[in-house]
Amino acid sequence: MKLLNLIAFYTLLISGISHTMKMPESRLIQIQKLQTKKYLFNQEQNYFLRIAEIDHTIENNRVKNQQEQSLSPVENITNNKLKLSTIEKLLREKEKQQTLELFKQCGLNEQETQNSINSIQKSYEQYIKFISTHFSTQITENNQSIPHIDIVEKRLNERGFFNDRLSITVKDLKNYTASLKCGCSWDDGAWDDKSLNNIELTLTINPEIINNEHLKSILLHETEHIIEAHPLKTSLITLLVQYFTKNNSIDINKLKEYKDICITHEEEAEVFSAISKPEYASLMRKNRQYSFYSGMLYHSHYEQLAQIDEIHKMIAFLEEHIKRQTNQK
Ligand SMILES: [Zn+2]
Repeated sequence: MKLLNLIAFYTLLISGISHTMKMPESRLIQIQKLQTKKYLFNQEQNYFLRIAEIDHTIENNRVKNQQEQSLSPVENITNNKLKLSTIEKLLREKEKQQTLELFKQCGLNEQETQNSINSIQKSYEQYIKFISTHFSTQITENNQSIPHIDIVEKRLNERGFFNDRLSITVKDLKNYTASLKCGCSWDDGAWDDKSLNNIELTLTINPEIINNEHLKSILLHETEHIIEAHPLKTSLITLLVQYFTKNNSIDINKLKEYKDICITHEEEAEVFSAISKPEYASLMRKNRQYSFYSGMLYHSHYEQLAQIDEIHKMIAFLEEHIKRQTNQK
């Protein structure tokens, strides 16, 4: 074999090897992708199966629960209202614990953690003050009109927020139905003394959901994120971790503890408005009966929404019962 041929042979051999090495790898990726797709499909199937079971159990128990009342109707209403406020209290407590857990995971000491929690609380209070003292409500829609958009303003007003800084736009968001951005600026000074002095909120709606029959609950979901200052809280958490760890090496987006907080925010966005009004509870429940929020909300979330919806229905049943009794007298 001549030298030139030998080189050609080796080149061929190397390219041959690299070719055969590449083949199973790309096939592996293909299989992984298919498995992920299958996994997501199975997860979705499982979700709908589980919520059908939950609904079935609830249907079976509803009449029984209405008949087996050991307390008086008035006491029962009080009891049910207490159940609603307990759900809210527990969810808020869970968010607080998860935030503490994240700071601990990022290496913040006790003092730094306490300072961070105080900063979040202080900024949250300033945020609430800011958005509840702007009285001229103006929602700007660009290009396209959004059906049921008045529900955003209605819900904000119910919570005492009259916001003139919320702009609503319609834009293609690829995989998302809606997104919420909160732009804030702080006064100069040490971290603890920083105060919010400007808030700009932008809600972007994907045109694909304009005709969605669950648009009302999607809008309510986003409005609750505004009320609860979720975008502000997550930005603050990131800033505080960067500030106390003095570098950017911690990518908190990759931490399980951070993801847990984001999931809780998603839960809160639906649970809090469901607690506030029977109408919202049934809207939220119906939406989750038909749409699976992959990676975020699962059947246990649906169970909670269904539970809230059922509590509202029970209260309505008891109030009706009291009314009937009063009319008979
Ligand atoms: Zn959300």
